[in-house]
Amino acid sequence: MTQAMKFCSHAGCRNLIPLTERYCSKHKHEEVSRVYFHRKHSGGKYEAFYHSTAWKKLSYQYRIAHPMCENCLTHGIIRKVDICDHKIPIKQDWTKRLDYNNLQSLCQYCHNDKTESEQLSKKSN
Ligand SMILES: [Zn+2]
Ligand SMILES: [Zn+2]
Repeated sequence: MTQAMKFCSHAGCRNLIPLTERYCSKHKHEEVSRVYFHRKHSGGKYEAFYHSTAWKKLSYQYRIAHPMCENCLTHGIIRKVDICDHKIPIKQDWTKRLDYNNLQSLCQYCHNDKTESEQLSKKSN
């Protein structure tokens, strides 16, 4: 009985390989770099969003409307906005990424504080 074989997944490569493999030994390294590429980009969904025109436009509009750090304002402190932040992080609710009501203006200090407490609460879970 002959083992079922297929062509290597590398474009144009006609090396026969077992069905369980994706690449011949010559192209095996491509599989590794592909997985790496995928990993890099699956986390990059958020990064890609922050570079999108839609987000840049919306956050710009929001910062114009709310030029002061909203957190500091509640404590009577006037600080210029540094970051347009999501109240509910987009990693928690992706659908709220362009929700104007989910935005808040934060200064660098408050943003670091928020990110830190988010990470802390994650650790304690
Ligand atoms: Zn190959
Ligand atoms: Zn602040």
